[in-house]
Amino acid sequence: KQQHAKGSNKQKGGSDKAITPKSEDYSRWYLDIVREAQLADYGPVRGTMVIRPYGYAIWEGIQRHLDAEFKATGHQNAYFPQLIPLSFLNKEADHVEGFAPELCLVTKAGGKELEEPLVVRPTSETMVNHMFAQWVQSHRDLPLLLNQWGNVHRWEMRTRPFLRTTEFLWQEGHTAHATAEEAEEEARKMIGVYRDFAVNVAGIPVVAGRKSRIESFAGADITYTIEGMMGDRRALQAGTSHNLGTNFAKAFGTTFLDEQGQQQPVHQTSWGLSTRMVGGVIMTHGDDAGLRLPPALAPIQVVIVPITKKDADVESVLSAARKLQATLVAADIRCKLDERLDQSPGFKYNDYEMRGVPVRVEVGPRDVAQSACVTARRDQPGKQGKTFGVSMEAEAFTAHIHELLASIQESLLQEAIAFRDANIVDVSSFDDLKQAVAEGRWARGPWAGNDADEEKVKQETQATLRCFPFDQPADRGTCFYTGSSNAETAIFAKAY
Ligand code: AMP
Repeated sequence: KQQHAKGSNKQKGGSDKAITPKSEDYSRWYLDIVREAQLADYGPVRGTMVIRPYGYAIWEGIQRHLDAEFKATGHQNAYFPQLIPLSFLNKEADHVEGFAPELCLVTKAGGKELEEPLVVRPTSETMVNHMFAQWVQSHRDLPLLLNQWGNVHRWEMRTRPFLRTTEFLWQEGHTAHATAEEAEEEARKMIGVYRDFAVNVAGIPVVAGRKSRIESFAGADITYTIEGMMGDRRALQAGTSHNLGTNFAKAFGTTFLDEQGQQQPVHQTSWGLSTRMVGGVIMTHGDDAGLRLPPALAPIQVVIVPITKKDADVESVLSAARKLQATLVAADIRCKLDERLDQSPGFKYNDYEMRGVPVRVEVGPRDVAQSACVTARRDQPGKQGKTFGVSMEAEAFTAHIHELLASIQESLLQEAIAFRDANIVDVSSFDDLKQAVAEGRWARGPWAGNDADEEKVKQETQATLRCFPFDQPADRGTCFYTGSSNAETAIFAKAY
């Protein structure tokens, strides 16, 4: 039996999906969205997650954009085994020290104790170097520019879907170069790729910069990072790029004959971005009604909702709606037509709103008669976001939708930039920092403290040094903590 529209407001047609308001409990709000929008579910093993189709489609969007960029910058995809002999990890002292607490080991296989335990990879520098040492002979084999899409395991203590899981999906780039300069250029180039992706595709106005020594990757000389400000103003490390120097090369004997016939260790980089990014998108753009997806990443960019008031409308409305869908699909717009007749339009509006679909198209009998339809944008709730009487004529319609999508992409970014900039406080004393952090904001100021000073700030305020932004003031300042001059500007914040 068909049911017809009873109106489009929440009271009448609404779904009863319950999302806790952000302001009431941010953490519950996040978990409610993950569950209700069917992005992910908990796995049976602690800290693992099942990524559901809608969440996976967002990850596929991330993969699509990044993979194209990696290839455009000269990298090729490859795949290395997930099981690594434990002895490999032990070869690089800092690396094993950093990762030891998080390792998963396989000690038994095929019904027998293994002679040597195998590590389920937490990252692949060791495995990669085992192979690079065999593949690289001379300077002519360099640079070696590889990327791997895969999963890794890190036995994290505090976990949360997407943001921090014990198994996560990511890509890890691994490169080897003849000179230190080339490796440094590569590490910076790839953090630039991440930054551009975060800003232009995910709509997350990240701050890119260099990590402090204690926050750097175990085994790296330098770690670069992109840091996003989430809706609760906590920082999220959304991707990292490491200049590994010759640390792994020396441990694994990854050397090459240079042009003078000398054996030299290669200079390496690695860089990774994970499913954490999906959490970053949720927490940057989501509102009390649910997800808001930037069009560039939205699995469904446009949903068409047919409105049929009586049985006689069904055929004409559906046929017009199917035509609109075909028009958009032909223009490479990800468009879904929700033909279900047993759900009211109001229910569907709320459902797609909660799932963050950027544009909704409503088609009713009166619209069909006028060869027009109504569009509504997710980033502007209610009537303001509605455009009445958009022509159904293919060219005009497609142009209108393209414009809407571009405008939504830009307005989500601008909103996030305004939020970020309103919540970074310039500090010139430790008291200023404490106050900024107590207000939940980011503190930015000149810093020349040592590792112990940094630990003390963390102990006292729970804020960590997120990065020394690339974007530095013209003149170096006086450290707000030690009073030394010539201090580099750093950002401190509480983080995920
Ligand atoms: P790393 O190899 O430690 O530099 O990690 C690369 C990136 O993966 C980090 O910048 C994080 O954004 C992300 N990441 C690290 N640990 C996790 C985790 N447990 N779950 C999800 N993402 C993670």
